[in-house]
Amino acid sequence: MPKYIFCTGGVVSSVGKGVTAAAIGRLLKARGIRVAIQKLDPYLNVDPGTMSPYQHGEVFVTADGAETDLDLGHYERFIDESLNRTCNVTSGQVYSYVIEKERRGDFLGGTIQVVPHITNEIKRRIALVAHETQAEVVLVEVGGTVGDIESQPFLEAIRQMRMSVPREDTLFIHITYLPYIMATGELKTKPTQHSVRELRSIGIQPHVIIARTDYPVTPDITNKISLFCDVDQEAVIPLITHDLLYEIPLILENAGLGKYIVQRLKLNPAEPELSQWKSIIANMRAANEVIRVAVVGKYVELHDAYMSVKEALFHAATVFGKRIEIVWVNSGDLEKAIGNDKIENVDGLVVPGGFGYRGVEGKILAARYARENRVPYLGLCLGMQTMCIEFARNVLNLSGANSSEFNEGTPHPVIDLMLEQRSITEMGGTMRLGLYECQLSEGSIAHQAYQTDQVQERHRHRFEFNNRYRSRFAENGMRFSGMNIKNNLIEIAEIIDHPFMLGSQFHPEFTSRPTSPHPLFVQFIDACIKHKLP
Ligand code: GLN
Repeated sequence: MPKYIFCTGGVVSSVGKGVTAAAIGRLLKARGIRVAIQKLDPYLNVDPGTMSPYQHGEVFVTADGAETDLDLGHYERFIDESLNRTCNVTSGQVYSYVIEKERRGDFLGGTIQVVPHITNEIKRRIALVAHETQAEVVLVEVGGTVGDIESQPFLEAIRQMRMSVPREDTLFIHITYLPYIMATGELKTKPTQHSVRELRSIGIQPHVIIARTDYPVTPDITNKISLFCDVDQEAVIPLITHDLLYEIPLILENAGLGKYIVQRLKLNPAEPELSQWKSIIANMRAANEVIRVAVVGKYVELHDAYMSVKEALFHAATVFGKRIEIVWVNSGDLEKAIGNDKIENVDGLVVPGGFGYRGVEGKILAARYARENRVPYLGLCLGMQTMCIEFARNVLNLSGANSSEFNEGTPHPVIDLMLEQRSITEMGGTMRLGLYECQLSEGSIAHQAYQTDQVQERHRHRFEFNNRYRSRFAENGMRFSGMNIKNNLIEIAEIIDHPFMLGSQFHPEFTSRPTSPHPLFVQFIDACIKHKLP
């Protein structure tokens, strides 16, 4: 029987509930407990795949091809487990599933209601995680904050979960925020008390309170929270805003949270083994020499849109004892010749994934700059496509070459819609998604990076390299070093006469973890370091 930890949020959102849940996952994993983490998202979209990055940040893709909340990226990076589509549930999924059943006649005669039909479906989906992942402990993070209208069915479902499993097998953690009043120099606990009262009003008494704050917390504050919220003193854990997210598991461990959880859930754990994690943190802290990498995208004012890319660069730099400094470059600016100096003063360029024409010409300019000036370039999905378009235009002299995504009438669609995509009209969940195989050619940079012949990587795209142009590219200096043999699709392209100019049709950033940085990112950073040397 799996045990459950439910994480709810109070007071305000954006206090790092996802990272906190991920960090708790690491504490359990460190004790040899098999753990999975699930996010319940209250919005009515079926998944974030169709949402703007401005609304939602990055769309994280799981191995089985689900388009999910970016918190799943934190979960995977912290617990070092591949999660699956059961690990992100939205109200949109729950409602559309229940309504579909109703249309089929499955409830014939019945009135369909939020309680019990929607809540039962939520409970079914929570139980599915343990079934699919074989986890001993499932951490369930409820998105939003207590009191939101949207999250009510989820909160009611987790309240009921206490009765679906033995009561002592559930633990409720409430993550709140302590505001600081500048005028009096005090931290205030009242909003926390109110949000616990709100939680209690729906029948949930938290066992643990994690109080996020920007200022040091004195024992009188934690005592007060303990007293008013009826939570054990040792279970009120202050968590001060921290510069290094990966250190949070260690902070929570030092505060005794790991021990408290295993006692409370009557788990039978091994001694916590955090030495590898500690040494990674020590390496991250010790790194002082800076490697500067430009990330050229159109949502650069919103770093959340490139969360996994940012983290993957960070992991890879740590391997070399370096600290990554990302220079965010707006591709739209490059089109207007603004900010060119930004790409001229870095050790390497990354062009990440993206959709739609806005800013694409700027990414193509960045690719041209990298190729002509022999600056390391890593293209991720769209970044691979822009690298190929640039090569077609400026090396092969195919004037007007483009992707048919950006110009349907291009004379040279070097990037074109995949055959199986031509008949698709629905937008949601219809791309080429999730893991596909990639065969690597010996002697290539990609092969050197991975040190193996075959890999599997996560995808999220509709367009592909157009095989009609393959020989022309190959004859003029581009090597297709990664292929999906089954579907005859190009997965990796690299420029032969260049220190490192490589693009992948897949997203390597989704599988980079602090414990195992992604080989392509590692190889890229290696090239950046060499480029930097005089
Ligand atoms: N828009 C491109 C495609 O659909 C690239 C997608 C991406 O970068 N994820 O193929």
